[in-house]
Amino acid sequence: YYEQVQQSERLKTTGQLAAAVAHEIRNPLTVVKGFLQLYKKEESFDEQVKRNFALMIDELDAAEHVISHFLTIAKPNKEVKLEKVDVKDALQSVADLLNSYGLLNDNKIDLHVEENCYIAINLIEFKQLTINLVKNAIEASSHGSGITVIGGKVKNSVEIRIVDGGLGMSESEIKDLGTPFYSLKTKGTGLGLMICFNIVEKYNGTIEFNSVKGNGTTVTIRFPFVRIN
Ligand code: ADP
Ligand code: MG
Repeated sequence: YYEQVQQSERLKTTGQLAAAVAHEIRNPLTVVKGFLQLYKKEESFDEQVKRNFALMIDELDAAEHVISHFLTIAKPNKEVKLEKVDVKDALQSVADLLNSYGLLNDNKIDLHVEENCYIAINLIEFKQLTINLVKNAIEASSHGSGITVIGGKVKNSVEIRIVDGGLGMSESEIKDLGTPFYSLKTKGTGLGLMICFNIVEKYNGTIEFNSVKGNGTTVTIRFPFVRIN
């Protein structure tokens, strides 16, 4: 079945709470990163171990980056730069970023995106949106079923589909999506989709979840197409 999920007012009031949470997460991250930087320089460790420390530092940087932009989004009046984003390029860099994460559970990200598709959005927010959706797709797929990202122009919109063959969701689970802290994962925050819904609404887009429990999920986002000249 199919359901249109709509943004609701309550998300805005929880924005401040989310900002506070993000702020509190930053401090422990900084401490852990400091220790890792020390260990990376430790001569007695072998090269493989040091490479792993470097990887961990990169991941912490990625987390810090997300938190920074999350804080920006939580502030309702903060202006962000509107850009003409090349959807293919942006999705390629999202796939490059998440491929190693996907490979941890044998999931490759397959991209099929048309050339010359542009949308008017802030690039960092577009990446934040699609990273969250692809990350969810990877986390739902435990058995190497793969993730497909399809993008192209449909009528006057740019349409992006993120398709996974993972856990899927029931109708009532779909209804709860975007509710702050709603998560079925042991280590989930339940904030990812709240952020996604905010970004989609901010740029006059839509988001739909089409899912069958046990069979996988397709998330479709659409934004107005922008002609370049
Ligand atoms: P988190 O990923 O931290 O749990 P999200 O807001 O990103 O928080 O997602 C909320 C919940 O929605 C997830 O815990 C999961 O149960 C469900 N969900 C989101 N995307 C998918 C997907 N592609 N397949 C199955 N379930 C999903
Ligand atoms: Mg998530």
